[in-house]
Amino acid sequence: MDKIVSLCKRRGFVFQSSEIYGGAASVWDYGPLGVELRRNIADAWWSTMVHARDDIEGLDAGILMHPRVWEASGHVSGFTDPLLECKTCKKRWRADRLDEAGCPRKPSVHPGGHGDCELGEPRLFNLMFKTFMGPVQEDAAVVYLRPETAQGSYVNFLNVQQTTRQRVPFGIAQLGKAFRNEITPGNFIFRTREFEQAEMQFFVKPGSDDDWFRYWLDRRLDWHREIGIRPEKLRVHAHGPGELAHYAKTAVDIEYEFPFGWQELEGVHNRTDFDLAKHQEYSGKRLFYIDPGSGERYVPYVVETAMGVGRTALVALVDAYREEEVAGQTRVVLGLHPALAPIKAAVFPLMKKFGQPETAMELIKTLRSARIPASYDQAGSIGRRYRRQDEAGTPWCVTVDRQTGDDGSVTIRDRDTLAQERVGLDHVEAWIRERL
Ligand code: ATP
Repeated sequence: MDKIVSLCKRRGFVFQSSEIYGGAASVWDYGPLGVELRRNIADAWWSTMVHARDDIEGLDAGILMHPRVWEASGHVSGFTDPLLECKTCKKRWRADRLDEAGCPRKPSVHPGGHGDCELGEPRLFNLMFKTFMGPVQEDAAVVYLRPETAQGSYVNFLNVQQTTRQRVPFGIAQLGKAFRNEITPGNFIFRTREFEQAEMQFFVKPGSDDDWFRYWLDRRLDWHREIGIRPEKLRVHAHGPGELAHYAKTAVDIEYEFPFGWQELEGVHNRTDFDLAKHQEYSGKRLFYIDPGSGERYVPYVVETAMGVGRTALVALVDAYREEEVAGQTRVVLGLHPALAPIKAAVFPLMKKFGQPETAMELIKTLRSARIPASYDQAGSIGRRYRRQDEAGTPWCVTVDRQTGDDGSVTIRDRDTLAQERVGLDHVEAWIRERL
């Protein structure tokens, strides 16, 4: 992980939040390359889940919602983690994750491992961030930063269904920030207090929920493979009765093998009619569906797919990172799928003369006007320029050289195979587009 963290900082993928003030715990800022990677992941998700289908609609609900939403959903009473404090060192941990935690004192042991450790009884700690709506800071004005986007989809279920004339089964997809006051955040961008979710709620007729659950689990696994994640690093973990969230009938985690072990990347949950029924009860407004064919009325069941975009970015980085020996030197490569790569092509003049920089700049302009993210670099040896792009995950480097002046061709070097191909200047854009 240290290598990934340092590459992220060195190349501008991820910076520590408020670094000049010593950092804000477990909040990270995405730099120029990181923001592109995250957007590419979010776009790939949106395009598969919304644009490619006629049965899923998009939504962007507010982060702040009516506080009753969180009472109805069970988050006020139940969105808690067991918190354990050591009276000796005053540190706090999640009681259910002690085997992953460390006592801050040396030699390093798990919490409770030193003779004078004094662990208290676990207390329940609510993970929602509270704030106040309006100018008066009183209990009546308390609102929460949403800990998931899902509730925005539930309270808008009929708005979306009626305005789009969708029939059950159909889904609502949302991309947006969620906030959780995690007790033990960590592992870089794996667990943060502010994160982006990509969640889809699929409303189905009760009785068809198990089939839809299997369907969505398969589709989500397909998607992770399609964005280039190595299949052998993915597995599924079904929640046992003791692990199930209060709303779930079935829950499966799609897990990835991180350097710190197998951990959840995405959850697929059968949330039954729990949320819609609760909102119906708490709001007093109808949230049932009337089948236009049969006239049957029912509260749909929901199959949810819930993924963290930042966590997927970490998976993409970890999965793509490799070190290779080339001509006696180690090269660090991010073998990102071209669709995820922040920069698609880098353009170099081999030399800073013979009109090569001007030709390279012209090519950059052509690529930019075709909306292909491209980068120009003329600093340092060609080998160093290749290395910089390899670390950034750029799939293709285009070099303008002496021959360009003679026959109008450039070389395109492939990041993974290192093969070089000569392509006419006029065809570079099409060549790249084809491979994207
Ligand atoms: P965990 O068990 O890791 O706390 P969870 O089961 O509570 O996660 P869900 O509520 O199912 O997670 O959230 C869906 C997805 O959102 C997770 O699979 C993960 O990708 C992402 N996610 C959840 N919490 C965080 C976090 N604190 N930081 C980054 N991503 C998160």
